[in-house]
Amino acid sequence: MSAQTPILETKDLRCVFTVRQGLFKAKKPLAAVNGVSLQVRKGEILGLVGESGCGKSTLAKILLGLQDPTAGALLIDGKPSSSFSRIDIARRVQPIFQDPFSSLNPRKTIGDIISLPLRVHKLARRDEIRPKVLDIMDLCGLSKRFYESYPNQLSGGQRQRVAIARALIMRPELVICDEPTSALDVSVQSQILNLLTDLQKELNLTYILISHNLAVVEHMATHVAVMYLGRLVEQAPTDELFRNPRHPYTRALLDSVLTPEPGMGVPDSQLGAAFPNPIDPPRGCTFHPRCPKAMDICKQAAPTPIVSGAGADYDMVECHLYGPQEARAA
Ligand code: SF4
Repeated sequence: MSAQTPILETKDLRCVFTVRQGLFKAKKPLAAVNGVSLQVRKGEILGLVGESGCGKSTLAKILLGLQDPTAGALLIDGKPSSSFSRIDIARRVQPIFQDPFSSLNPRKTIGDIISLPLRVHKLARRDEIRPKVLDIMDLCGLSKRFYESYPNQLSGGQRQRVAIARALIMRPELVICDEPTSALDVSVQSQILNLLTDLQKELNLTYILISHNLAVVEHMATHVAVMYLGRLVEQAPTDELFRNPRHPYTRALLDSVLTPEPGMGVPDSQLGAAFPNPIDPPRGCTFHPRCPKAMDICKQAAPTPIVSGAGADYDMVECHLYGPQEARAA
C-alpha cells in the first residue's frame, strides 16, 4: 500500500460528443469516456488496454490537455489540472505517439524537432539548446551526426527515438505512450520497448502505456486498466490481472491472444454478439450482449465498481458477478 499522492488522477471523468445519425441527421450523444476514475503514481507504468473505439485515445487526449472533459476531475499532483498553466502541464506530461512518420515535421532538422518544446516554452537560452539536445539524443541512442539530418534520412526506429527525445527534452514526470511501437517493424519494436524501459528506470519516469499488444503490457506495466465502451471495467496489478482476470471482458481479451490471428479486437465468434454501436449502447451492463456469463440483472442495471487496495495494489472490477467479498477472492 502506498500513501504517495498520485502524479495523475481522474475522478469520474466524462467526455460526451454530439454526433448526427440517421435519415434526419438527429443529434445523439456519444459518451467516448464515461466515468473513468484512475490513478498513477511516480515510477508506475499503467497499461491501458481495450478494443478500438473503446475511448482510449480520447482519454489520452484529455490527460494531455488536448481535449476538455465534459465532466469529472483531472488532478495533477493532487491539484485540479485547471490550476496549472499549459506550460506547467507540458513540463509534467508529454506524449509519444504511435506514428513517427507523421508526427515529425519533414522540413525541420532533427535538432530543430527535438528542441522545439524548449524554444516554444522559452525553457533554455540559445547557447544551452544544442548541448541539451545532444544530451537527450545520446540518452535515446541517437548519434549526434543526426542533429542536422531530416526525418526522411532516418529509419523508422530512429524516427521513434527522435519522437521519444522530443518528449523527454522537457524532462516530464509522466509520459503517455500511445501505441509506441505499433507502426514499426517487428525487428525494431523490441529495441524501442527496451529503450523505454531503460529510460523509465534511469529518469524515474512514470508511463501510461496504451497498447493493443497484451504481451507488451504484461512485460512492461506495473498495473493494468481495461476499458470497454468508455468505462474502466477492471484494474489490477499486472501479475494479478494476467493470472486471474475477473471481468468476463478481460478474460475474452486474454483468450483472444491465443486465437490464430491475435489482435486487440475480440473475435465475435468468441462472444455472443458484435461490438455494440457506442451511440446506442446496450442497457444495463453494456457488455451483456457479448458476455458468456450474463444474468437477468445484467440487462437491467449497470454494475458499480468494487474497489479495494491502494497505490500499486489498487484493484477494481465492475461486474455483477462480484460483490465486495468476491472481488479479489474469485
Ligand atoms: Fe457479464 Fe453481467 Fe458482468 Fe456485465 S455485469 S460483465 S453482463 S456478468
